[in-house]
Amino acid sequence: MQRLPFAKRLEDLSPGECIWPINSGGPYLFCAAKAVGKYCAHHKSRLIQKRGGHLDE
Ligand SMILES: [Zn+2]
Repeated sequence: MQRLPFAKRLEDLSPGECIWPINSGGPYLFCAAKAVGKYCAHHKSRLIQKRGGHLDE
């Protein structure tokens, strides 16, 4: 996980840090970049694409 220097486990996340999960097996790690809302700008755009243009949360 060294290639993701900002990655944190859920219990280490602080408010204002991106909660995008970056792996698919435990222990889960999250992006933890500076977030606007729940996700950083990069992951917010990923989320919008994934949901076909809607951002519900
Ligand atoms: Zn992120």
